[in-house]
Amino acid sequence: MRASDSLEHILVVQGDITRQDVDAIVNAANESLLGGSGVDGAIHQAAGPELLAECRRLGGCSTGQAKITQGYNLPAQWVIHTVGPVWRGGQHHEDERLASCYQSSLTLAVEYKIRTLAFPAISTGVYGFPLERATRIAIATVNVFLDQSSVIEQVRFVCFGDEAYEGYQSVLADTFGNSR
Ligand code: ADP
Repeated sequence: MRASDSLEHILVVQGDITRQDVDAIVNAANESLLGGSGVDGAIHQAAGPELLAECRRLGGCSTGQAKITQGYNLPAQWVIHTVGPVWRGGQHHEDERLASCYQSSLTLAVEYKIRTLAFPAISTGVYGFPLERATRIAIATVNVFLDQSSVIEQVRFVCFGDEAYEGYQSVLADTFGNSR
């Protein structure tokens, strides 16, 4: 596949990830996997209590790794829970750990034959990762992965608000130039 081919499989939308009609949504969880604020809280709220019950059986998740559960009351069949790094100034492997979240989630998706997948902007809320830096890592990592794998048909970046949406659009334009 040519580098720009993966662009056909990437979509940026503005909205609420819990409403996305995809095979799997990714949750920006914390290491306990027992729910939290932000997108994590919204996903648990929309999925219902059975999600928390399944998460309790998973025994947590390390930063940069991912685990999968069912989606219960969500439109998505699956939830991939990944734990983003807390931003501590950029010298504590934050970039690699964030990239690892995307890689681990995509690897799990392929294992489960998931064809459509939606990501939130992992770590850019309470965890404080600078939005543009996180966006570049998200798009670059997904791009490289899609170039090497043909199982996943669509990766949707779900932006919560104008700033994230515009940021993702501009990084996409930088990455793919005029091929869009
Ligand atoms: P983290 O702890 O990884 O920083 P947060 O949930 O605080 O996770 O924020 C991650 C990103 O998810 C932020 O950009 C936030 O605006 C966004 N977000 C919050 N709620 C939703 C939602 N319902 N759908 C999509 N994105 C959301």
